[in-house]
Amino acid sequence: LRSAEILAVGSELLTPFRTDTNSLLITSRLNDLGVEVIAKSVVADHAATLQAALRLALSRADIVVTSGGLGPTDDDLTRDAIAAVAGREQVEQPSVVAAIEARFASRGWKMPENNRRQAMVPVGADTLDNPNGTAPGLWLRHDGRVIVALPGPPREMTPMWDTHVAPRLAALTGAGMLRRRLIKIAGRGESHVDEIAAPIYRRWTTAPVPIATTILASPGQVELHLSAYGEDRAALDQVLDQAVSELTTALGSAVYSTDGRDLEQVVADRLLALGATVAAAESCTGGLLMGRLTSVPGSSRWLTGGIVAYDNSVKVNDLDVADSTLSEHGAVSEPVAVAMARGVRRRMRATFGIGITGIAGPDGGTDAKPVGTVVICVCGPNDDEVVVKTVRLPGERAMVRRLSVQTALDMLRRACGSPDYN
Ligand code: ATP
Ligand code: MG
Repeated sequence: LRSAEILAVGSELLTPFRTDTNSLLITSRLNDLGVEVIAKSVVADHAATLQAALRLALSRADIVVTSGGLGPTDDDLTRDAIAAVAGREQVEQPSVVAAIEARFASRGWKMPENNRRQAMVPVGADTLDNPNGTAPGLWLRHDGRVIVALPGPPREMTPMWDTHVAPRLAALTGAGMLRRRLIKIAGRGESHVDEIAAPIYRRWTTAPVPIATTILASPGQVELHLSAYGEDRAALDQVLDQAVSELTTALGSAVYSTDGRDLEQVVADRLLALGATVAAAESCTGGLLMGRLTSVPGSSRWLTGGIVAYDNSVKVNDLDVADSTLSEHGAVSEPVAVAMARGVRRRMRATFGIGITGIAGPDGGTDAKPVGTVVICVCGPNDDEVVVKTVRLPGERAMVRRLSVQTALDMLRRACGSPDYN
């Protein structure tokens, strides 16, 4: 069994207020088993639509997984739809009634009659225990296919997958597995990365152990996802490690992690290894950089503090930026960013100082300094070491602020040396 289709059942998932996330988790778990998801859909609580979706899924996928619609109310139709499509009667299963009654009794309640519906089981289906809710899941082998039905709430569905579904599917999918690697890159655009990476990864699609490569871009970051399918874990790992090393060599210092760590964590680990600390003075990012840095657990070991220097008087009085520097060059300028970085480094007694000043918009841009102009400085570890950069960032205010932080973090990473990938 190598292919799967997912049906996320629930009319609420077709409104703007709820998003189907279950299918993402299910997809990642299926991929771990080497199963490819060939289609997925979100289906309303509507009997005919649901049955049609199930029929279609069964016509093209080996494994059909549904989530949601197993509850006790009239709009919970998944169980009935599966029974109808598979042509099975439903029989009340006393052990399930007992389990639901016990669940209510443990809270001092009596089971509502409604909940009896959840004990109806299509003939031939196994029920899957749900320790976090009343609705049991279903496992049904039908026509050489597998149908798995799980409840909608993620906190019920996820443990049920791991406890019941994964081992059962593993027994059917054989020894095959998908192994993955992730390369994270900062400071390069998607097309730039692809230009370097494509000639390398293209060769792997026809290798004895083929590697599939996907490139994913988000603001300020590009990720290369590598995966290989097979039965020999060690062989897969070896091929993938070799592939990662080829790509990181080609991409150089733009690669900041190959082990899943995010940029702030890489910076944190690097600072810790150096026994160094950092402080930041932020203008247009208003503390966003601090927010990202302090999101790393244990950040107090390498972060001393920061100043949000929005008004020029704060730049002058709290960061020792000279009045003349401000009037001569303007608040968004390299001399001011340098003075901010130096000031905060000295005031906060840190090894590295960061200064960010820019125009996030929508107002405040000029011809010479349009919206998106941001100046970032990293100084340290020594007094005279300064790196300063003026960038023109694309997008709206939120994007400019986010990219400013990303750029500052990457400059800090480079300032603390990036020995792993250089
Ligand atoms: P219950 O017995 O709790 O009613 P159920 O199987 O009937 O279980 P639903 O009623 O369909 O589940 O969904 C319950 C809640 O679970 C939804 O309101 C929603 O918040 C969440 N949920 C359902 N499906 C999904 C999904 N695909 N992704 C994320 N959350 C979901
Ligand atoms: Mg429900």
